[in-house]
Amino acid sequence: MSQSTIFKGIAACPGVAVGPLWVIDRGGTHPPRVRVPESKVEEQIARVRAAIARSRESLEAIMHSLVETHGPAYGQLIEPQLLMYGDSLFVDGIERAIRERRLGAEWAVRETVDALKRPLLDADAPYFRERAEDVEQVGLQILRELAGEDDGLPPRDAEVIVVANVLSPADAAELRNSRVLAIATESGSATSHTAILARALGLPAVVAAKGVARRSEVGHTAIVDAIRGEVVVDPDPAECADAERRAERYQHFARALRAHQDAPVVTTDGHPVEILANVELAFEVERIAASGASGVGLFRTEFLYLNRRKPPSEEEQYAVYARTVEKLEGRPVVFRTFDLGADKMPRFDGLPRPSATFGRTGLRYSLTVPELFETQLRALVRASAHGPVRVMFPGVSGVDELREATERLRRVREELAREGVPLEEVPVGSMIEIPSAALRSHKLAESCDFFSVGTNDLIQHTLAVDRTDAGLTSLSSSLDPAVIELLQMTAASAKARGIPLSMCGDMAADPLALPVVLGLGFTQLSVPLGMIPMVQETIRRISMERCREVVRAAAACSSARAVREAVVEAFSAELGEIWREQGVVTD
Ligand code: PEP
Ligand code: MG
Repeated sequence: MSQSTIFKGIAACPGVAVGPLWVIDRGGTHPPRVRVPESKVEEQIARVRAAIARSRESLEAIMHSLVETHGPAYGQLIEPQLLMYGDSLFVDGIERAIRERRLGAEWAVRETVDALKRPLLDADAPYFRERAEDVEQVGLQILRELAGEDDGLPPRDAEVIVVANVLSPADAAELRNSRVLAIATESGSATSHTAILARALGLPAVVAAKGVARRSEVGHTAIVDAIRGEVVVDPDPAECADAERRAERYQHFARALRAHQDAPVVTTDGHPVEILANVELAFEVERIAASGASGVGLFRTEFLYLNRRKPPSEEEQYAVYARTVEKLEGRPVVFRTFDLGADKMPRFDGLPRPSATFGRTGLRYSLTVPELFETQLRALVRASAHGPVRVMFPGVSGVDELREATERLRRVREELAREGVPLEEVPVGSMIEIPSAALRSHKLAESCDFFSVGTNDLIQHTLAVDRTDAGLTSLSSSLDPAVIELLQMTAASAKARGIPLSMCGDMAADPLALPVVLGLGFTQLSVPLGMIPMVQETIRRISMERCREVVRAAAACSSARAVREAVVEAFSAELGEIWREQGVVTD
């Protein structure tokens, strides 16, 4: 019996599950490790031979076209890779791994490639390291050919734990129709887009579990513990039994919370708080009516733009937005215009790309691709004819940018009105997620109808901590005094101008941060659908007066840790149970 291995990660969506593994591999780096029965060996060999032949043909075609357009010297760039296909160490090695060890085709390719690369990478001379890269590229090409044979998703009725490198919007949308028990990913961090998509599925999810895909063999058992933030591969029976007990306990707790989701959300001293839902994938809209949410406070439209070569047309977007509005039956929806860049990178042909880190992202990127932006604005304004629509802009960094965007929206409205298209008023909001926006919020408040604070970005930009880097999690805290001060400024600006203020970043769904959020004056929160019952219950257990006190106490604190201690001390009697069940505190 193999020994269990524990992979530490970050809990992205609470819960515990035990089940057989399924691996989705999109990049070829962590192909599914499947062992095949004797009777399937020849089939696997045939698959791998066909994939090798296809991959060789496409490389030859690339070489010929390069030689034709750029001359024979360019053929030499490809030649070392082409030679690999005739290399007996390589091709025979793959077949031997299938025949002798009964590895599935993908696993055999990966293992052979890794084995061939190892001595090359150990060599000092750069020449050998480049050859290692050639081997890797050929391996990846063959794996892509193999992956192209099917969609890699588990069968609809399979109760499995899905392990992947990243979760793409397309995969997440497909998985919602399956009976997947939990998700574990290699990449991601607490607020990365992989984590956000995992939360949208409402399944226990652990992200940033480095090494888990390489160790996961399809069909073997794993535990995803998204309370402790760990994945256990090949657990022993005692570990499984213990995990089953924890799963049961969490389900019991979550069920009890859900039982109250239609009850009013009011603090113990009578202050009502409005709860809205965040939507990342259009299918979630179906669940709003039964969720206790009064509408959608953040619809992340950029997920319509990812993993495709051509951006969505006005008609395609209009259909999605109009259907969303209709499904909400009069409840409001805040559509955020596409927020691309960083870990949400589009792959459009012929369009400039947003920045991979900071810079030309969010609204700044939208303003550099006016046609793309206006196409979306037209679709959004047209959807207003179907019910209450609000539009907000992401990553606003200053007043001029916000004015330029609202001016474009105004022009789009005029144009549509001239065309005789039915439409209604569309209030315009500014996200506050860059420190410069919080600092200038008193001015921004004059140029928009509402504020919505994106704490995920506000925290990373204020503290200079990349939100996609799981290794930096300990440096990132919503309770940092600097973050609290910027939130305070924003709330004061909204109040002075009399415009609605909401929070849609993940701080609003953190039961440890919620007393501070409320105390700062945020009484409209937009949170992931699956977190709504917990957020509602947290609010019902605390008093606004004490929340304000803790914010006053935080002003005297010199670190996030000190603020956290102040919150824990003030609220552990009321919130200790929720914190423990959610894995926010362990004692
Ligand atoms: C945020 O930054 O908090 C936010 C809500 O936007 P996103 O997470 O999509 O960047
Ligand atoms: Mg953001």
